[in-house]
Amino acid sequence: MSVYTCKKCGKKFETKGFTDGFCEECAADYQDKYHQVREYLWKHPGSNASAVAKACDCSVRQVMQWVKEDRFMLSDDSRVSLYCEICGTKIFSGRYCAACQTKAERKAKDDALSARIRQHTENMHGTTVERPSADDGRMRFLH
Ligand SMILES: [Zn+2]
Ligand SMILES: [Zn+2]
Repeated sequence: MSVYTCKKCGKKFETKGFTDGFCEECAADYQDKYHQVREYLWKHPGSNASAVAKACDCSVRQVMQWVKEDRFMLSDDSRVSLYCEICGTKIFSGRYCAACQTKAERKAKDDALSARIRQHTENMHGTTVERPSADDGRMRFLH
């Protein structure tokens, strides 16, 4: 059991499981709001963040936080803008534009690959590599 302080109401609470920093009541409230906002957007697509916040009685910051978490998309005519954290292009959800997202993913993949190659090279140094018999200078046909 660990004791946490609720990010919203400041109450101390205990949990043995995962917590995103809210006490039970605030976490339930947070989920409710999220569903409320989602429902509102479903009925009123194209609403801007401040209208949504007002209608659902939560903060614009909260709505934008959900947008950043990729839970909602901003519509094209939204007056609230998000910009790619890398190149500054206007985007509608998440943190990066499609191009930078692809680049970031490719880079992550490259990094993983070079880490694997590095590890592989280290292994080669540490073990005796057996030469295949076909490598003794003569060609051999295998039947
Ligand atoms: Zn709380
Ligand atoms: Zn970008």
